[in-house]
Amino acid sequence: MQTPKKIAITGSGLVGSLLAIYLRKRGHHVDVFDRRPDIRTMEFSGRSINLAMSTRGWKALENIGIDQPIKEISIPMDKRAIHTPGKPVYFQHYGKEGEAIYSISRGVLNKKMIDLAEEAGVNFIFESKVWDVSLEEAIIYTGDSEKGEWTPHQYDIVFGADGAFSRIRHKMQRRSMFNYSQDFLKTGYKELSIPANKDGFHKLNSNSLHIWPRGEFMLIALPNLDGSFTCTLFMPLEGENSFEGLDTKSKLDSFFRNHFEDTMEVIPDLMKDFFKNPTSALVTIKCEPWSSEDKVALIGDAAHAIVPFYGQGMNAGFEDISVLNELMDEYGDDWKTIFSEYGASRKPNTDAIAELSYRNFIEMSSKTADANFLLRKKIEKHFSDKHPDKWMPLYSRVTFSEAPYSEALRVGDFQRNIMDGVMKIKDIESKWDSLEVENTILKALSS
Ligand SMILES: Cc1cc2nc3c(=O)[nH]c(=O)nc-3n(C[C@H](O)[C@H](O)[C@H](O)COP(=O)(O)OP(=O)(O)OC[C@H]3O[C@@H](n4cnc5c(N)ncnc54)[C@H](O)[C@@H]3O)c2cc1C
Repeated sequence: MQTPKKIAITGSGLVGSLLAIYLRKRGHHVDVFDRRPDIRTMEFSGRSINLAMSTRGWKALENIGIDQPIKEISIPMDKRAIHTPGKPVYFQHYGKEGEAIYSISRGVLNKKMIDLAEEAGVNFIFESKVWDVSLEEAIIYTGDSEKGEWTPHQYDIVFGADGAFSRIRHKMQRRSMFNYSQDFLKTGYKELSIPANKDGFHKLNSNSLHIWPRGEFMLIALPNLDGSFTCTLFMPLEGENSFEGLDTKSKLDSFFRNHFEDTMEVIPDLMKDFFKNPTSALVTIKCEPWSSEDKVALIGDAAHAIVPFYGQGMNAGFEDISVLNELMDEYGDDWKTIFSEYGASRKPNTDAIAELSYRNFIEMSSKTADANFLLRKKIEKHFSDKHPDKWMPLYSRVTFSEAPYSEALRVGDFQRNIMDGVMKIKDIESKWDSLEVENTILKALSS
């Protein structure tokens, strides 16, 4: 049991609204401020980023019994569908039978979470931008403009769930002993769309995450409930084959004909979407400490923004909440300890998923089309099916387990070294499922 507090959350995104439900269920008074209008009242063009939800995300929803209504608005994807020029589509299962990641629209999910939070008694204050916070007194300041008049709001505790460019973190950055880094990728992204067939069905296999890996750039597509797919084109912002370079319709047309010919038929609005939709940047943000005494704490992207190539940003933010919840059980009203333990336990793990996400861009864009890589994955899967207690592939450890991300990074590096050795075995292509290979791995694991 905790003594009820007056808590403000800055940001009604996925993490802010889920955190609000958790805190409200503990009996706290919770106000959520967002600079945006209520997204439930906004018209959607029918298109929005979709996300892959996996085990860590589901666990945070299960804890408070809201996983089922969310499962109903998601589509399981149990495999990658890899599109390589001139070859049939290659399907690669993500995990064991029954394991899948789930495609869900960010907008639809966010609306649902705000509904659930309101039902739980959370109070939302939209179109109210937080400009400043007093870290010592937990006062937030809202107003119409940076230079205009601000209204102070006094709380016991303030959470910054205000995303990668957090205003709450911005205030912490001005303090001594606050470490901060931001790294932009030279690769950006743009959304495109594959509409549903006339009969409302998906044009491509609907239980797959589709990838067109092309080295420096790639296209991916995730299914939506209405039969469409949201596609994301990742490619360099500048240079050869870049967003900057594709500045005319004829250049775009010949680029897609050369590299993604099989998509030309299924993306009818390519020209319109490409030149209308914004090109966005990808950033990794790290910082510490994540809290100030027992008054203010960061959560979600505000504390750790990562690039999206492992599909873990939201999942990691939801896991922050699960961990915080366990610490609230353990330390009750001792918020100072809750916050310091929370930062100490999460920081090594979010640093690890930042690193793994960065590395996964190379894996998704280059290696999924590489025969050696596919053989490596086949050997790992074969061994893991035979010895599930001895080998969990890295992807499964990140996606289908609750093992700490830092452990996944460490064990993944150890397994990679073993597989580097296995791939050097003479004629590995013909004996990948032999006893010799199995014994080599067993020996390496025991050494
Ligand atoms: C292309 C792409 C694909 C992705 N795919 C996946 C995926 O497959 N799986 C996955 O787990 N994650 C994925 N992510 C990451 C995921 O989208 C984020 O990690 C997640 O949305 C972070 O949620 P958040 O609530 O912390 O922040 P946000 O969603 O950024 O929400 C922050 C909220 O704070 C509000 N706000 C900001 N500043 C203020 C202020 N000063 N005052 C008041 N309100 C404010 C904003 O309006 C917003 O509502 C992807 C990200 C991208 C870019």
